[in-house]
Amino acid sequence: MPLLDEIVAEIAEEMGSYSERGEVASYIPELARVDPRHFGIAVIDADGNAHVGGDADMPFSIQSISKVFTLTLALGKAGDRLWRRVGREPSGSAFNSIVLLENEKGIPRNPFINAGAIAVTDLILSGHQPREALGEILHFMRFLADDPSIAIDEAVAASEQRTGFRNAALANYMKSFGVLDNPVDYTLGVYFHHCAIAMSCRQLAMAGRFLASQGRNPSTGHRVVQPERARRINAIMLTCGHYDGSGEFAYRVGLPGKSGVGGGILAVAPGKASIAVWAPGLDANGNSHLGRIALEALTRRMGWSIFGA
Ligand code: GLU
Repeated sequence: MPLLDEIVAEIAEEMGSYSERGEVASYIPELARVDPRHFGIAVIDADGNAHVGGDADMPFSIQSISKVFTLTLALGKAGDRLWRRVGREPSGSAFNSIVLLENEKGIPRNPFINAGAIAVTDLILSGHQPREALGEILHFMRFLADDPSIAIDEAVAASEQRTGFRNAALANYMKSFGVLDNPVDYTLGVYFHHCAIAMSCRQLAMAGRFLASQGRNPSTGHRVVQPERARRINAIMLTCGHYDGSGEFAYRVGLPGKSGVGGGILAVAPGKASIAVWAPGLDANGNSHLGRIALEALTRRMGWSIFGA
């Protein structure tokens, strides 16, 4: 059995034995119903081979991991103009924090906190109807993952739409500063729905391949983004991808990564692999508890940390 297959299988087995699994997100009622015992891992290596373990083919709510892909799309539309409405500094506060918005005239700190992702979504929406914008995001995900079956979990989207008062506050607050161009309800509708895209670890790792391969889809050779843009998206994932747990993730795992409150993490080992893990229990910062432990084990055993062995 090749080394990577062996390591992935070992990690999946080890994760099954943990009793401390964190808490499933409950502020979105539909996510509170997910069984915390799931664990999945998928690694797509530089040759395009998939190495999977556990529940690697079970779809879950990707939540904030969608923000990597909306950022990529928005940069494709607006280029560096995007940085006029969102910053790229780590926030050091919670994913749904409103605190920093006031100091910075409604400009969110980075595209991966909720406020920043709402501003990015607003840019994608401009000039379109909400359904069209969502269609574009979904189409992009299906294209990247090479899988037309990827869909939105409408129950999760509706659940968040009913209870997303904090996100509505963030959006209204930014609107008051003129940071959003579209009706707040439209922007939020698109935001909630792209967070509710359901994907498996295998699909997610497939979708992340371009970030590990200097912007190219390695199986078709098609360029998704320029190498420089892939490098920069990876940089933002490293510094901002885990909210106020980003420093700890860099310290322990040493890879660009983006987590979601559904318990998924997409991680990128540049030149080596695109990796997705899923374990629904979260730590205090809202990042997958076992997902981080599994990635730490993988990077340590493979020597993949970007900071060296
Ligand atoms: N849709 C979630 C929210 O806006 C995403 C949060 C996350 O995954 O971190 O609260």
